[in-house]
Amino acid sequence: MVSIRANALVGPDLEYVEDVHIQIDTEGTIINITNEEQLTDYVLPQSYLLIPGFVNAHIHVGDAYLKDQTYGLSLDEAVGSTGIKHQTLSSSTTEEKISSIRNSLEMQVNNGFTSFIDFREGGLQGIKLLKESLVDFPIRGLILGRPYNKDSLVEISKQSDGIGFPDVFSFDATLSKEANFLKENEVGQLNAVHVSESLEVISRSLATYGRRDIEVAIERLDLDFVIHATYADKNDLKSLRKNNIGIVSCPLSAVYYGLDFPPLEAIINEGILLGLGTDNVFCCNPDPFRLMAFSLYNARASKQHISPKNILKALTVNPGIMTQRMIGQLSVGYSGDFLGFDLNSPNLSFSKDFYTALTMRATPADIGFQMYKGRLVKWKDQK
Ligand SMILES: [Zn+2]
Repeated sequence: MVSIRANALVGPDLEYVEDVHIQIDTEGTIINITNEEQLTDYVLPQSYLLIPGFVNAHIHVGDAYLKDQTYGLSLDEAVGSTGIKHQTLSSSTTEEKISSIRNSLEMQVNNGFTSFIDFREGGLQGIKLLKESLVDFPIRGLILGRPYNKDSLVEISKQSDGIGFPDVFSFDATLSKEANFLKENEVGQLNAVHVSESLEVISRSLATYGRRDIEVAIERLDLDFVIHATYADKNDLKSLRKNNIGIVSCPLSAVYYGLDFPPLEAIINEGILLGLGTDNVFCCNPDPFRLMAFSLYNARASKQHISPKNILKALTVNPGIMTQRMIGQLSVGYSGDFLGFDLNSPNLSFSKDFYTALTMRATPADIGFQMYKGRLVKWKDQK
């Protein structure tokens, strides 16, 4: 049993509550949140603000080995089926794959992520490599495997949290039926797919199926969320909303590849659950602060109005709801994953709005307190 006392952003709406006592059981689950005076293990200074640990809603942890070799390339040249990523991935050694994964995990922990959702390459072997590495790091990985060689979808789903299809061209009727059957019959199984990342993908879908790829994805797959949807139109968004499917946008990677900034305001206004992800490690460092600030600055440039609080939710509360996992918020029953920020730090002092300060000013160096499943990862000011 562990307890913390702090000013905190509590519940699904990240509501500011002063001086709360949070109790976490030995399993790492929050079992009580109260204002009552109680004996406490970790009393954070008055200037601190406690928030849920960040959730990276989309990443490929395996491609850190390719860092900074793709700037200026198109999406296809970098990550297309014949692009530099998949060409080098297939020829890389197991040791290279493992050190790449471990580098991504280390960066995420250092930058304040306590959970991430990985689109895992390499079938069963790829899943195994990530799971073996995860044991050594204070971070939760939700792994979405993909069909690979002769690996069965049933086995992939059994070893992971679900299926992450690369695109609508990567499954036939048999595979999609199998994924839907697994979702219906296995508790917690997730289905997701990359969609409408570029106009080329939509054109290819129109040429192949006579419909836009989001329509095809919704029709064939029982989905929890889609990735990107950068070029989703009004009808696409309405269909996603109607089917209760979330969107994980990756603004950093979209702009890196020379694509449009995603329609975040339209997604939020449509009532769709929005998550944000850092995407490929080789082009975008897995840093929640860079992702949040970049999203808010670029939203302004593309005439979109989004609140800093909504962006904070896209990296905490929303991915938890989207994946039906008890993560991303300070509520009873949820995992004891926390970050504490000293609002008197040089970066954050004088700010009149902590949602803006956290999303547009904070850096990993401002994390003074970090906990994963009730276990201390970092406490800078510990006496
Ligand atoms: Zn991706």
